Amino acid sequence: MRLDLSPEHEDLLDRIEALARDKFAPRAAYYDRTATFPFEDFQDLFEAGLNAPAIPVEYGGLGLGPYRGKVHTLWMMTRALAKADLSLARCWEGHVNSLVLLDGMATEGQKALWFERVVQRGEKWVAWSGEPQSRAPGETLRFGTTVEKVDAGFIVDGSKVFATSAQGAQWAILLVNTAGPGGIRHAAPGSLDTQLMLACDLSDPTVKVDDSWWDPIGMRATVSYLVRFHRTFIPETHQIGYPGQYIKEGWQTCFIPHYAASFLGAAEAAYEYAIEYLVSQKKSGDPYVQHRIAETSMNVETAHLWLRHVAGLWEKGRYEEAQIAGSRARHLIEHLAEDAVQHCIRACGARSLNRPSLLERIYRDLSFYIRHDNDDHIVAMIGKSILGQDYDPSFYKP
Ligand SMILES: Cc1cc2nc3c(=O)[nH]c(=O)nc-3n(C[C@H](O)[C@H](O)[C@H](O)COP(=O)(O)OP(=O)(O)OC[C@H]3O[C@@H](n4cnc5c(N)ncnc54)[C@H](O)[C@@H]3O)c2cc1C
Repeated sequence: MRLDLSPEHEDLLDRIEALARDKFAPRAAYYDRTATFPFEDFQDLFEAGLNAPAIPVEYGGLGLGPYRGKVHTLWMMTRALAKADLSLARCWEGHVNSLVLLDGMATEGQKALWFERVVQRGEKWVAWSGEPQSRAPGETLRFGTTVEKVDAGFIVDGSKVFATSAQGAQWAILLVNTAGPGGIRHAAPGSLDTQLMLACDLSDPTVKVDDSWWDPIGMRATVSYLVRFHRTFIPETHQIGYPGQYIKEGWQTCFIPHYAASFLGAAEAAYEYAIEYLVSQKKSGDPYVQHRIAETSMNVETAHLWLRHVAGLWEKGRYEEAQIAGSRARHLIEHLAEDAVQHCIRACGARSLNRPSLLERIYRDLSFYIRHDNDDHIVAMIGKSILGQDYDPSFYKP
């Protein structure tokens, strides 16, 4: 499908697609099997000058992002990575979304310091909120952090889970709460002024990664571990933005369609795999195969059209419309991608779920990744917005 990007952005996309196809896709099965962070992929992105897409040009980056009027190219880069490896795309999104937050909320001094380290040294970022408060059966631990204000900084104590890139990133933006455990995603209703964003240097010895918690069906290479903070001191110079800014200014809405770009990448990879599989098996004369391939192609095309629509709203500065349209796209693309993968599996048959098979990994990764937000709550939020009720466009809390 033609994307109608500028020649400069076409070139960017060609470069990342070539890396994804030639280097990242062949590594993905090993990272998945061994649940290893994709270090080599990030090193290749750094060496190609592609690791700082959402850093402004004046700081040495590519200047892409929702509030930079150039977001479609960014999402298409993410989709290219997701085609090769959905776990890689999640780690990349975590990094890129953190850069968007720094660009939007950090001080000039913080940007100068942190952006230089990304551009010159290839440092990686991620943002961690996950502190689910209700225990899953068998869980003996209760997750969550406490934050104490001390002289010239904060002490963070406790744990977070779903800490993507736990062994790969150098920096994490901790979304924490002085009112008690829950971070921001799982915070109890109350004042937003207790919600903070703190940049944590992950080389601090008081930050300990626990990989024993992580044994999921898919997205294994995201190494989204349990991380423990043992009274970790964070200087106040590392506070990002003002208290409550994340929710008050709706920053999560910048990232919701970005997840959908990854779902689209997974669907496209399944589609291309299925065509090659079916043609090589000479099954393309079967009417059911024709039917399923046609359905898949329309799902992929519809997802593209939605993302292009949402990107267009961001790029034209129609932010309020873009924010709600992003959630509509997120919901639709989750289902379009899931259906696309199902069509491909049904057309290809049982052997497509036997390793080594790209479809097998995509099926596992996508099933897990789309749980990143609860689809029922997303749709309820869209309904509330139509019916004039209060709604949470960030974490869709009921
Ligand atoms: C691969 C992966 C990587 C991730 N990486 C990161 C990351 O790097 N940083 C980060 O911050 N987060 C990350 N997350 C976010 C993470 O989505 C959440 O922390 C996690 O999904 C919450 O776990 P849960 O769904 O088991 O629990 P819950 O949040 O408890 O949700 C379970 C279900 O309970 C219901 N529910 C939720 N809240 C309520 C409520 N108040 N009342 C009634 N019902 C409710 C919903 O139906 C929901 O589906 C990642 C998620 C995945 C899957």
